[in-house]
Amino acid sequence: PVHRSSEVQEARLRLPILAEEQEVMETINENPIVIVAGETGSGKTTQLPQFLYEAGYAQHKMIGVTEPRRVAAIAMSKRVAHEMNLPESEVSYLIRFEGNVTPATRIKFMTDGVLLKEIETDFLLSKYSVIILDEAHERSVYTDILVGLLSRIVPLRHKRGQPLKLVIMSATLRVTDFTENERLFKVPPPLLKVEARQFPVTIHFQKRTPDDYVAEAYRKTLKIHNQLPEGGILVFVTGQQEVNQLVRKLRRTFPYHPPTSSAKDRPKKAGEDTKTLQAAATDSDVEVEDPKELEFDMKRTIRNMRKSKKKFLAQITLPKINLDDYKLPGDDTEADMHEQQDEEEPEELMLEDDDAGDDDGEAGLISGNRRPLWVLPLYSLLSSEKQNRIFQPVPEGCRLCVVSTNVAETSLTIPHIKYVVDSGRQKTRLYDKLTGVSAFVVTYTSKASADQRAGRAGRISAGHCYRLYSSAVYNDCFEAFAQPDIQMKPVEDLMLQMRCMGIDRVVHFPFPSPPDQTQLQAAEHRLTVLGALEVRKSSEKTTDLPPAVTRLGQVISRFPVAPRFGKMLALSNQQQLLPYTVCLVAALSVQEVLIETGVQRDEDVAPGANRFHQKRQSWAASGNYQLLGDPMVLLRAVGAAEYAGSQGRLSEFCTTNGLRPKAVSEVRKLRVQLTNEINLNVSDVELGVDPELKPPTDAQARFLRQILLAGMGDRVARKVPLADIADKEERRRLKYAYNCADMEEPAFLHASSVLRQKAPEWVVYQEAYELQNGDSTKMFIRGITAIE
Ligand code: ADP
Ligand code: MG
Repeated sequence: PVHRSSEVQEARLRLPILAEEQEVMETINENPIVIVAGETGSGKTTQLPQFLYEAGYAQHKMIGVTEPRRVAAIAMSKRVAHEMNLPESEVSYLIRFEGNVTPATRIKFMTDGVLLKEIETDFLLSKYSVIILDEAHERSVYTDILVGLLSRIVPLRHKRGQPLKLVIMSATLRVTDFTENERLFKVPPPLLKVEARQFPVTIHFQKRTPDDYVAEAYRKTLKIHNQLPEGGILVFVTGQQEVNQLVRKLRRTFPYHPPTSSAKDRPKKAGEDTKTLQAAATDSDVEVEDPKELEFDMKRTIRNMRKSKKKFLAQITLPKINLDDYKLPGDDTEADMHEQQDEEEPEELMLEDDDAGDDDGEAGLISGNRRPLWVLPLYSLLSSEKQNRIFQPVPEGCRLCVVSTNVAETSLTIPHIKYVVDSGRQKTRLYDKLTGVSAFVVTYTSKASADQRAGRAGRISAGHCYRLYSSAVYNDCFEAFAQPDIQMKPVEDLMLQMRCMGIDRVVHFPFPSPPDQTQLQAAEHRLTVLGALEVRKSSEKTTDLPPAVTRLGQVISRFPVAPRFGKMLALSNQQQLLPYTVCLVAALSVQEVLIETGVQRDEDVAPGANRFHQKRQSWAASGNYQLLGDPMVLLRAVGAAEYAGSQGRLSEFCTTNGLRPKAVSEVRKLRVQLTNEINLNVSDVELGVDPELKPPTDAQARFLRQILLAGMGDRVARKVPLADIADKEERRRLKYAYNCADMEEPAFLHASSVLRQKAPEWVVYQEAYELQNGDSTKMFIRGITAIE
């Protein structure tokens, strides 16, 4: 029995889903697969796991809940533990870098990527009695794949007499991709609608659609606060930078002086938050009686699983590959932009807010109201304590104002909101399907998102939504719905993961909405270039099969990083290189470790103009650091930050050297995780995570460069030969231009590169991306290593 506090009990009784408990549970008991759709805030995420728990689903096995966002996995596990009065060892979470799962865990919240990895080692998910796929309407890549896999796992578990329940939860009623897809579910699963008490929300469009929506959001918020009655304000902008900028501005305008300032915001000491991962893999037996009716060849999948398990239950040994003979697939033409697994809010590519113009002409707006505004930021990279403040009581006499990215759209329900200010924008990372080149762009949201955002204002009473765009723009420029992620992103790590799970024909996989063929082919091609797949010999009978997974490919897929980085790790078992590669890969896998202050435009940095840049130049110039170019700067910066951290000086070091503390701590977590995984899986290696990583010797640096080239072999660029260009202007324009494989237009060496002065003839780059500059766009490459 669960003992809830009366306070919690009262709050629960206000949630619409509570009235439906009986119907929800009856439907789940009677059906293997159920879809639950209910308005955000109706209590799906916090209550359904509790219903299942109380109905006995956690008695012998676990209740698993997946979330596309890390933020939600952590916040919801904590909330449910609190509501149920159970310790975090029983209601726990597991995300890519960390978790608090124990053997006693009964309800486990995790990111969808984590569950997908678990399926690799335990195909039937034998530890779970029920899986809840939350936020399925977001259509994240991993959730889509999980729907496909679970559509097959559920019947298999049924056959074995150990039924597994699947609950798919959505904040919208747009679930036809799940219900009307016969390849996925032959019998459409029942759809339960949770009727939420939604109060009417009045929509106010603007006459015009201003470009500077952040400034407009500020003005609108001032007006609401000055002129309208009580009720919280929720403002939607696109990214962390905008959130912080707006929060600062609003706080300055309506300051709140707390009685005492707390020491809560003290920076964490290094190591404080490096709880290591539970080793999840267990031995499970995957005997199956008769899987013949399964369309995407489950039999083969299971057989393959058994085979590969046999192979992998024994520890793997990393091959010692002679780097001098290692063929560099540099002639192959393609590039890819690999998406990080759990990436949530992409940060700006351009750094530094520009707060200039703060005080112009707005004085008039700040009329009578001197009532303080309690302004809180919300975005996914914010620490969870700070996120949690949105749920805490607002100080006496203040009005709540939360400035958020689209995290607040459906994953977290903020209490007491009556006014929504919607910029109508979101930041998306768009990929070129063929080249994989990505660009961060701010786009209009979909109509569905806009309506979700508006809905946040109608939870407690009638509300208002102020849209910072015109109704014409809404009608003409907003798509009805966002496209599923899987149709937007490059899919190679997914492809490799699926292939290693024994799914040979990814093309036939029952995706809720399949990615397009070009994308699957491009992914297959990139993986072949990387050496993770290899074309089958024509003598093999099964020539119609796609390229086979190589041994290298299997090793690569074991690492929780992009395939190219997995390859770098796989090649590093020599010359004591692993600690360096681990550190390098960790640093390269985390976005924006280094702050690029002052070089946001494509300008050369005047000497002394940017202390960070100078420091990086000097790092890059000393000793064997030159050999690796920009990645070595990163390696050195992270190494030095770790060392500073071990001395308790991390935040100071980050400030003086231009590093993001949050990123440094992510790098550290990933380093720990990679190190553990290598120690666990690789037989002859025992690594530690020494904060004091000595600079590599010359020989090591040379090897590291080769390894880096092997991983980045498809991202080679050659300087545009200036000597052939007659026109002086044109020569100047193309001074830093490079021709990259597969791209028509040249890309420019980014001004932040330490190799900018040298501009070597041949380089590999970590990333190619496009920046918008007025009406035109310009392509840049960064993270440069010279090939000599
Ligand atoms: P849904 O999943 O249907 O969107 P949730 O279960 O997430 O709904 O939320 C139900 C309610 O629980 C909301 O009113 C939300 O504000 C509240 N809630 C969630 N987390 C917390 C928390 N940490 N503290 C207080 N209230 C919370
Ligand atoms: Mg929810």
